[in-house]
Amino acid sequence: MENIYQITVPTPYQIGDVHLYVIVNDSITLIDAGVKTEKAWIAFKNQLASLHLTVEDIDQVILTHHHPDHVGLLHYLPSVPVYGHPHIEPWLTYKKSTAKTYNSYFEKLFLQLSVPHSYKSQIPRFEGQFKYGAEAKLAGTLLEGASPPLLKGWKVLHMPGHAGNHIALYHEEKEELIAGDVLLDKIVSNPLIEPPFFVGEHEKPQLEYNNSLQRLLSLKVQKIYPGHGKVIENVSELTRERIIKQRKKAESLLPFLEEGKTGFEICQHLFPHAYEKQLALTLSMTLAQLHYLEEVGYIQKVEKQGKWFFKKSEVKV
Ligand SMILES: [Zn+2]
Ligand SMILES: [Zn+2]
Repeated sequence: MENIYQITVPTPYQIGDVHLYVIVNDSITLIDAGVKTEKAWIAFKNQLASLHLTVEDIDQVILTHHHPDHVGLLHYLPSVPVYGHPHIEPWLTYKKSTAKTYNSYFEKLFLQLSVPHSYKSQIPRFEGQFKYGAEAKLAGTLLEGASPPLLKGWKVLHMPGHAGNHIALYHEEKEELIAGDVLLDKIVSNPLIEPPFFVGEHEKPQLEYNNSLQRLLSLKVQKIYPGHGKVIENVSELTRERIIKQRKKAESLLPFLEEGKTGFEICQHLFPHAYEKQLALTLSMTLAQLHYLEEVGYIQKVEKQGKWFFKKSEVKV
């Protein structure tokens, strides 16, 4: 006998609440770990108590991906074994060398995208990962196809896109997926840009994400337990909708790209209101569309003096 319980805690992020899941069989597994705030910690403990559980009962934590809203409460659970994809590791340890790679990657990217100097304060910094996130050590790693410890019948699927190290837990028999941020009900799970901690991976996250969505379509899934929003039961319908919506959004950019445009100009065009306050996120969303258009051959990227210009491809006859 096994039961899955949803725990919901607040986050300081615009996305709002985040869900954690408690799988109760002979042992207690926590999937994901909220944010590092006092408010989230209290909400977490109260909801555990309503399941007649305490923090000491938790045997292990499995992380779907590295984002702070999914790892932060690990700060309060220092002795519980933590499992996740091996590429989650650099995000869970503050190292000067990692910070340098991360920070200089984004500084350079902002230049490549022609972001004016006045937006300098919005360049992401690695330190930001730890404001609401946490440091932790992995007790073991979970690769594609692995059977996670203490969870009979569940299998690990590597589903990169939203994050390079994103995994989901799939129960083939029950046709259920605990999917972190792979697919959300009301919100598009943006494929976020990451620094090149692992060369050759996650360079074009939208393309990885599209593959993961195609994979999701090929699986039998009746129910998705997501990281945010309501439990999803119309999985293939929603997945197809997302694939089509992304293509349309990307293609709607083409008239604007008749003349070469900078990344910043395209971002302003796509997000005329949001870009000012959420520049890193909207630039990530912009690049996602540009990577897709480049991949299907609709646009070309030209580099001039370290800056990128994106332009609609000439139609070949
Ligand atoms: Zn996320
Ligand atoms: Zn999330």
